[in-house]
Amino acid sequence: MLIGVPRESAAGETRVAVTPETTKKLKAQGHRIVVERGAGQAAACLDAAYEAAGAELGDRAAALGAEMVLKVQRPNAEELGLMKAGTVLVGQLNPFDREGLQAMASAGLTAFALEAAPRTTRAQSMDVLSSQANIAGYKAVMLAATHYPKLFPMLMTAAGTIKAARVVILGVGVAGLQAIATAKRLGAVIEASDVRPAVKEQVESLGAKFIEVPYETDEEREAAQGVGGYAKPMPPSWLSRQAVEVAKRVAQADVVISTALIPGRPAPTLISEDMVKSMKPGSVIVDLAAGRGPGGVGGNCPLTQTGQIAQVHGVTIIGLDNLPATVAADSSALYARNVLDFLKLVIDKEARFTLPADDDIVTACLVARDGAVTRA
Ligand code: NAD
Repeated sequence: MLIGVPRESAAGETRVAVTPETTKKLKAQGHRIVVERGAGQAAACLDAAYEAAGAELGDRAAALGAEMVLKVQRPNAEELGLMKAGTVLVGQLNPFDREGLQAMASAGLTAFALEAAPRTTRAQSMDVLSSQANIAGYKAVMLAATHYPKLFPMLMTAAGTIKAARVVILGVGVAGLQAIATAKRLGAVIEASDVRPAVKEQVESLGAKFIEVPYETDEEREAAQGVGGYAKPMPPSWLSRQAVEVAKRVAQADVVISTALIPGRPAPTLISEDMVKSMKPGSVIVDLAAGRGPGGVGGNCPLTQTGQIAQVHGVTIIGLDNLPATVAADSSALYARNVLDFLKLVIDKEARFTLPADDDIVTACLVARDGAVTRA
């Protein structure tokens, strides 16, 4: 197949969907690859490296005019205009945005949103949410350490002792676990909260303390089980008890990293304005749910300003909303391998696109085909 790799056009997007490493593998499978000039530059993948790996360099129209287009983010109107009806598109296409899906369907694309893959063992190697969340969790701690005016580790020096930073992690999925591991390596003392009881053991095995909020009703216990590994919205009764426990920790914390999300819904509010006011001057909040709060405003904290680093009530609130793009080379390397693994499911031995009838991963990811949105 002719596979196109355009430069990403979204503001601040530095990643690329195919690296020289995966170019080589696609080439070995019998594909032709056209890379838009400069597509990988911000991810340290230079044009010469793509050429050396067997790709052809081309302009935007050539990359987007290919039979299959591999992207990081959903195409905008300009990109859709350069893609032909029947093009196969693979990327992070935001499967919960109906309007966006409709635009891709109307353009006649066969589109696969990789974020929609099930959380199964077979899908692990193509799980873009995990590969990117892992990096976001790491970078959240790095940012916190940079903006926090003190040190993370305890230091006993001739000039006196410096206390270890107290870090609170809210939401312990892939990003939260990596944030715990990273903060631990820096010497912080860590507490973490999640709605799912299964997480407690993972938190403790990383050397952090789990913030216990016992379940008191069957409704709470049932909601806490989640669905497909993801959290479900918890009843207000549990959330208000969680808020009390979280508020105590946040008031003592030096750094709060929040990652709590529920697929397809606004991020839960876990850090209220009063909690921010209770924090010590110089404390830092990194809100990985930035831009995903109610109505697309805020994140796990309503004071979070999406895309900004703001000072509010003496606290630095970091609302940067694309942390994987700040580690573009490694994010792209992992993302490109995820894409490569997904392609194995939709490309046959003759290097042609094929839609398997009964593959749960392909069915879950397919969001548009034959002019229609295929996702319920
Ligand atoms: P996510 O990004 O959807 O959410 C982040 C975390 O926020 C989750 O742990 C969630 O439970 C938590 N959360 C939601 N509401 C909350 C609240 N009110 N208070 C506190 N925490 C709250 O999560 P994720 O990283 O996508 O991971 C979700 C699950 O899927 C995890 O159990 C993860 O281990 C699992 N997973 C499985 C596979 C696999 O089997 N292939 C792959 C990746 C992830």
